[in-house]
Amino acid sequence: MKNNEYPEIMLPERACELCGFDGGNALELHAGEDVLVIHKEQMTAIEMVHVISMLSEMSTDLTVALAKACGRCNNCGGEDDDTGENDPAQWVESCSLCRDLLDDSQNIYIPDYLLKEAGISSSAKLEASADRDGGEITVTEAGNQFDISDVPPGILTVLAQSGICLAELDELIMLEEIVYGK
Ligand SMILES: [Zn+2]
Ligand SMILES: [Zn+2]
Repeated sequence: MKNNEYPEIMLPERACELCGFDGGNALELHAGEDVLVIHKEQMTAIEMVHVISMLSEMSTDLTVALAKACGRCNNCGGEDDDTGENDPAQWVESCSLCRDLLDDSQNIYIPDYLLKEAGISSSAKLEASADRDGGEITVTEAGNQFDISDVPPGILTVLAQSGICLAELDELIMLEEIVYGK
């Protein structure tokens, strides 16, 4: 059942003063998954510059916070941590676990008709396990709703280039733990 109780947002007076919002401004709302941005419906060039710089500052800060939550990849705890090089882009590159997460060909693809037969939606995430002796692979619907495949390539590239552990990111997404504002 859908929860129809929504928060009623009153904009704090001081925030409105800072934003230059007065009763006379029509405001424009941009609602996306997990975010709401409000700015004036009509803006001058400098007002637009202010909005752009706030948004890019926020996106940098959030990216840094996400990167910190994941930490650097030390070859994912593997033995041959030869990632002592100073180029962070090489850290993820030389970790096979992280590299596989960037590689689409590692995903499980099952034809739609088979999914249908199994009663699994074609958009569902899949999980596979292998039976060592029986020569069988079992594919089931994954328990988690999101994983690293839901992260846009642009964000993944920035994190990978900075040597951030993608396996840890995948783990954090699946665990659905709070990683910001705890
Ligand atoms: Zn790692
Ligand atoms: Zn790794």
